[in-house]
Amino acid sequence: MSLPSASSAASRYLPPHIAGGTDGLSTAQRELVDRAAEVGRNRLAPHAARHDRDASFPFDSFDELRQAGLLGLCVPREHGGLGADFATYALVIAELGRHCAATALSFSMHVSACMGAGFIADLLDMSPAQRAEHERHRALHFERIVGQGKLYAQPFSEGGAAAAGKAPWSTVARKVDGGYRINGRKIFASLSGAADFYGVLCTLDGPGTTLRDTLYLAVPGDAPGLEVCGDWDPLGMRGTVSRSLLLRDVFVPDTARLLPEGLYHQATLRFPHMFTTQSPTYMGIAQAAYDFTVQYLRAELPGMSPVKRRMYPTKQAAVAEMRIKLEQTRALFLQSVREASIDPDADTRQRLYAAHFTVMENANAICTLALRTCGGQAMLKSLPLERLYRDSRCGSLMLPWTAELCLDRLGRECLYAGTEGDESLE
Ligand SMILES: Cc1cc2nc3c(=O)[nH]c(=O)nc-3n(C[C@H](O)[C@H](O)[C@H](O)COP(=O)(O)OP(=O)(O)OC[C@H]3O[C@@H](n4cnc5c(N)ncnc54)[C@H](O)[C@@H]3O)c2cc1C
Repeated sequence: MSLPSASSAASRYLPPHIAGGTDGLSTAQRELVDRAAEVGRNRLAPHAARHDRDASFPFDSFDELRQAGLLGLCVPREHGGLGADFATYALVIAELGRHCAATALSFSMHVSACMGAGFIADLLDMSPAQRAEHERHRALHFERIVGQGKLYAQPFSEGGAAAAGKAPWSTVARKVDGGYRINGRKIFASLSGAADFYGVLCTLDGPGTTLRDTLYLAVPGDAPGLEVCGDWDPLGMRGTVSRSLLLRDVFVPDTARLLPEGLYHQATLRFPHMFTTQSPTYMGIAQAAYDFTVQYLRAELPGMSPVKRRMYPTKQAAVAEMRIKLEQTRALFLQSVREASIDPDADTRQRLYAAHFTVMENANAICTLALRTCGGQAMLKSLPLERLYRDSRCGSLMLPWTAELCLDRLGRECLYAGTEGDESLE
């Protein structure tokens, strides 16, 4: 029995009951996953090593995504986009992540902005006036993306408690005539210097502000007062170019709102899957590390010496262990992305933490196993495993749901229902 070769590996991301003819995917989902596989394999992968080495942004890969019509992945169909739902989004990003994780992660930031203003907004409670206003505003944003090929980033992190969802953002927007003036600093802004618009989270200035006062504003990349600063020379995900943003009295008009005032907070409470938009990239990395190992042990990787290693029982046991970890990860991932909905019950929410944690931790664990199994020659920079290993390390560091914070939230929510406390013990 022959295994699929590297070139036919596209269908292997999904298990047979999903990847086969009666795969449970809609025709539109299947078409998009296939499109992502073709773009990833043939048009992103060739640039990946160079952008990793240079820590440079993959403009060429984004041109490919643009040409493939994928920038509008989560833009609603009535606005000219592809209208992908959360599960479709996750499958497409995971597929791209197999081929260039930094591009997939950066692209997921762009698509997340569309998701927030798109199908998540559709699920939220709004007054008729808010709904009408949001329709007008998002039409502008979506036209930029679909009509003009513009890129959106989502710089939320500030280095304080806000990105963990524990305190109001220290970046502040003051209401002024016709718009807002923004002041603050964002760190780790993927697509810094490359995005046309930055979807900045800030606090609407006022007395006694809380997270309820969060505002989601699209700041043009060339707005006076906006500066990209700081170095970028990290361990992994180097092509994301996630430098800092300084905002000094930056003016944006009212139309910059990606959600009406007050609605971002509602979204965070009611659509928790929005916090897991990074994990599909790492699911793709896990798959890529497994695929690499199989091909390496079979001596089928382009450029490697024709020495097979698959006959050793130790290698077979290691691959079996990797496969089991991959299947466990993928099963939880697929279940969780398909459960994305407004107001999930406690069980679904807890499974979401478990899924996100599992993908982020297992991506790195599978890469670690891959390196140990394939051995010294496999860690040379001429082969992609070394990059996969470094990229995989970044997932569980990413706020708001780092591995630590997933455990923190999951443990608490398993033991306390709703607003329950332990007052009786005090
Ligand atoms: C490759 C890459 C790309 C990124 N791109 C983006 C991006 O585009 N946009 C963006 O907004 N961010 C992005 N980030 C940033 C990321 O989400 C983190 O904000 C960033 O890594 C800073 O993390 P830190 O460990 O320094 O945070 P710290 O604030 O120092 O937190 C350290 C750890 O402490 C824990 N912790 C933090 N706060 C609390 C708390 N209140 N209670 C309990 N535990 C807490 C968490 O587990 C956290 O990991 C990116 C990060 C990486 C690695």
